Amino acid sequence: MNGYADFMYPEFIKEAKAEEQRTAIVSFHGSMQTEIEHARLCKEALENLEEWKKARAFFVCSMCGWTTEGPRPGSCPVCSNADSGFLDF
Ligand SMILES: [Zn+2]
Repeated sequence: MNGYADFMYPEFIKEAKAEEQRTAIVSFHGSMQTEIEHARLCKEALENLEEWKKARAFFVCSMCGWTTEGPRPGSCPVCSNADSGFLDF
C-alpha cells in the first residue's frame, strides 16, 4: 500500500499521456516516487514505533519533497536536485 501512489498518480499519468502533456507526465512520475517513499517510511515507523522514537536524521528535497533517512543523499533521485538542496531534520 503506497497511499496516493496506488490510485491517484497512475490515473493522473494516464490522463497526461492521453493529452500528451510531457511536463505533467514527468511531474506526476516524480510525485508518485516521492509518495511511495513517504508511504514506505510511514509503514516502517508504524511497525517499529519504539525504535523510531529515537533520534533519526531525515533529509527532504527542497525541490520536490522526496524524503529519505540519512546519510545525506548526493542528489535527489526524483528531480536531480543537488546535495545542497536537502533540508535536514
Ligand atoms: Zn527532489
